[in-house]
Amino acid sequence: MTIQQIEIYNTLTRKKEKFVPINPPFVGMYVCGPTLYSDVHIGNCRTFISFDLIYRYLVHAGYKVRYVRNITDVGHLEDEVAGAGEDRIGKQARLKKLEPMEIIQRYAFGFREVMSILNILPPSIEPTASGHIPEQIEMTQKIMEKGFAYEKDGNIYFDVEKFSKTNNYGILSGRNIEDQLDNTRTLDGQEEKKGRLDFALWKKAKPEHIMRWNSPWGIGFPGWHIECSAMSQKYLGETFDIHGGGMDLIPTHHTNEIAQSVGCCGVVPVRYWVHTNMLTLNGQKMSRSLGNVFLPVELFTGMKLAADSPTATPSQAKLEGKHPLFEKAYSPMCVRFFILQTHYRSTLDFSNEALQASEKGFERLMNAVNTLEKLKPSEKSSADIKSLHAKCYAAMNDDFNSPILLAHLFDGVKIINSIHAGTAIVSKEDLTLLKKTFRDFVFDVLGLKEEKETSNNDELANNLMNLVLEIRNEAKSKKDFSTSDKIRDGLAKAKISIKDSKEGTTWEIEN
Ligand code: AMP
Ligand code: ZN
Repeated sequence: MTIQQIEIYNTLTRKKEKFVPINPPFVGMYVCGPTLYSDVHIGNCRTFISFDLIYRYLVHAGYKVRYVRNITDVGHLEDEVAGAGEDRIGKQARLKKLEPMEIIQRYAFGFREVMSILNILPPSIEPTASGHIPEQIEMTQKIMEKGFAYEKDGNIYFDVEKFSKTNNYGILSGRNIEDQLDNTRTLDGQEEKKGRLDFALWKKAKPEHIMRWNSPWGIGFPGWHIECSAMSQKYLGETFDIHGGGMDLIPTHHTNEIAQSVGCCGVVPVRYWVHTNMLTLNGQKMSRSLGNVFLPVELFTGMKLAADSPTATPSQAKLEGKHPLFEKAYSPMCVRFFILQTHYRSTLDFSNEALQASEKGFERLMNAVNTLEKLKPSEKSSADIKSLHAKCYAAMNDDFNSPILLAHLFDGVKIINSIHAGTAIVSKEDLTLLKKTFRDFVFDVLGLKEEKETSNNDELANNLMNLVLEIRNEAKSKKDFSTSDKIRDGLAKAKISIKDSKEGTTWEIEN
């Protein structure tokens, strides 16, 4: 297929731009992954679903994407703006009397399970910060050689004021350095920094700090921002196509990533900065520090999550689909659909009513997908399927506009239902295109999938039917037609129809 011309809103230039990769058809995309000191919440999931949509569409549009999404397992301190306080994972390890790696293992298990049930594709590479300490030390050394970092008592700080003399430190956020200085306070124990905006590339480990590595500056651990600069450079090169994350990362984490890469190599690291807006609850950002988070396990039907893991707390096992704010549990695909109904750059408020409406919409879409398979072609079409197909591409080419795409698909749903009801017709060629449009956009691009849960009853019915059909086949092979006819008639009375074909016998319950 021909590669689609996509337009992407670039935070760096604050406008939509034609997407032109450095080395087409290859695309390098880096997305800041989770800090695994607790379970990921639905807000985090929104960001990962948004980038999954972008990844899926780039692949669908013909690009060969290397998608790197990291796991932060060291260096993310409690006060992430000031770079102060305890390491988030180290703190959990201390409180739970576990190894930091046990904390990571447990939450990584839960994280991957959530990603999988939300049908979020795994990235091409999922590097961890602790697995890239030498790369982070090397990058820090290069920044020091260029004169943009200094050592103070075993800590290495990035010199923001010096960097700002020759570079625009606030290029991504659009804030000038004076404003940023006015908004930053000096914290106790941070007096050793030359400037208030300076941030740590490497920190000296206090004796009680659990995660510690040797470095040219003594025993310590890396700062948070350097991991993403070092790992993106390692896997995608000094300059790559797309860097993503939530909007909350713009003013500090991503601003500092740019400063580090420019400070190290003198080149701008990223062509297109893509940021997702926040999932909110009553208008307030959902965040672990505010305590207003929903865990997938509290919302989804049929999810056991970390309750299966030996380190899970007993209370987690009881949480399934039972959050006091929600009248009922929702399926993971309904939540994915709900999230995709809003453009990734708009805020999205989480509520019972909104989820209920999404549940109905998702069901309508999936019913139409099933009806579509049963439609029969006519001589000609009464609806313009080619234009529907083109509109779906146009929506996604316009900065991955999933709500507009869904609006077009729902126009398609109306067409499908009308054809089924006999009030519209479709030609053979158009029916093939309609099926392809739905298959491509609903399943491949939006990443939705059918959620027919097989219950114990379904399993029982399957087993019994297999037995009945086996007896019927045996009777037929012995030419005992009175038995085989008796089975067929009995099943027909029970409204179960059977169909014989070369592949074997299938059955279905008649509507
Ligand atoms: P964290 O584990 O807190 O570092 O977050 C992982 C990713 O989730 C980052 O890209 C954040 O920007 C994103 N994120 C955090 N909170 C929210 C939220 N409420 N809505 C959308 N994305 C979020
Ligand atoms: Zn990052």
